[in-house]
Amino acid sequence: MTTVTKIRAYNTDIRYVVLPAAEYVISAVGRTNAKPSVLAREAGADVAINFPFFGAGALYGYNVVSGNVANTEIPKTAARSEFYGISGKYAIGDAERRVVDFAVQGSPALLRNGAVVFAESVANDQTGADIVTGRAQRTAIGIHANGDVVFVISDGRTVANVGLTLTELATVMRDQLACVDAINGDGGGSSMLYVDGAIVNNVDERATGCALIAKKKETKVTNMKIVIDAGHGLQTAGKRCPDDSMREFAFNSVVARYVRDTLAEYEGVTVKFSHDDTGAVDVALADRVKIANDWNADVFVSIHANAAGDGWSTAAGIETYTSNGASATSGKMAAAVQKRLIAQTARKDRGVKREDFYVIAKTKMPAILVEAGFMTNAEEASLLKTGAYRKKCAAAIVEGLAEVFALKRKVVAPTPSTNAVTVIVNGKKLAEGRLENGVTYVDNLPVRALAEVIGASVAWDGVTRTVTITK
Ligand SMILES: [Zn+2]
Repeated sequence: MTTVTKIRAYNTDIRYVVLPAAEYVISAVGRTNAKPSVLAREAGADVAINFPFFGAGALYGYNVVSGNVANTEIPKTAARSEFYGISGKYAIGDAERRVVDFAVQGSPALLRNGAVVFAESVANDQTGADIVTGRAQRTAIGIHANGDVVFVISDGRTVANVGLTLTELATVMRDQLACVDAINGDGGGSSMLYVDGAIVNNVDERATGCALIAKKKETKVTNMKIVIDAGHGLQTAGKRCPDDSMREFAFNSVVARYVRDTLAEYEGVTVKFSHDDTGAVDVALADRVKIANDWNADVFVSIHANAAGDGWSTAAGIETYTSNGASATSGKMAAAVQKRLIAQTARKDRGVKREDFYVIAKTKMPAILVEAGFMTNAEEASLLKTGAYRKKCAAAIVEGLAEVFALKRKVVAPTPSTNAVTVIVNGKKLAEGRLENGVTYVDNLPVRALAEVIGASVAWDGVTRTVTITK
């Protein structure tokens, strides 16, 4: 859980979250006309704040989202500063001449190296007098001397004469929040702070199209217990292609096996199925949940193929679900798995959704449910039947889990070949060769035959298993 601290200054409630740079990854996410809390949820964020400055339906200023320049400076926003990130380090300044992971432009800079620079920065800005001197709801970002980042939101919209002037905000950030650098973000009705799945301040959120998000780095789990759940049974009524050319269980269970076998390549992972792998029994939903809860599983993944209507239809694509009350970790898993499912299969992205499906609502651990394509769509049905598509889906699930839980592949020591032969040419070791039916090969080329063609002499020492070629 993330701690939100509330303080009071200038007759105004101010809430903030400290994000230790070593524990959180901060980035900017964007999509035109999306609300910041929606973007935060989709990205599996733990904490988010609306940023940058927003107006007339567009972002203002120089902004970089996911490594791409989302929009460039416009005259109105010239000489403003940006909050930006480079390789896990965060700063406030001029991002435009640097290669950054993300940047969001604020207005104006409030603190630099512990000094209030508001007067200087506002002089370079075209911010209106009302914004400079008026009290308003504010969002801001500060940085501690040790590099930790602070997301700040003040009240100021609901009650008259409540809120902070920019000078007051700068002072609070320096004197009460111990920031050395700080920048004002957007304010007024756009203000939004999102923590652990909920908006912590009560405003009518605007669709500003961009958010700064922070995700807590997962600590590496040793002996991670993962339940894989292939939905339904082979004979479950309805769950099949309209022409009965494939049962949903066939897809679900084969993907489940691929996931299990691929996870076996990772360190410290144990997998359990909550379904009957033979498909003979459609294990009751309550029993599937009990298997996961009794085992104290760390993660639950339910695999399904989708259906729309009774016959063939055009509905298509892939979606991943968490329950409505899902933890931030569930959201992260869903976002990571969905992203990779689309990357692997290039099917339509139906997004991450929330629905209280029994197995993900009742399991106690982070849980997702994947709908990996429509059995009722002719094109997708033919894909769902193929081993190649099933392997892609399994790979996406494993890669998503590996990302969220920092799973490491087992290091497999190369087994020394009993056929290994050393090849020495004119006193120098050439390569490791391989002896097969009395013939030594290097890179599948027969060494003796080649050497003799060029008139070299070839000697074989069976004790040291060495071929010596001299010319
Ligand atoms: Zn299903």
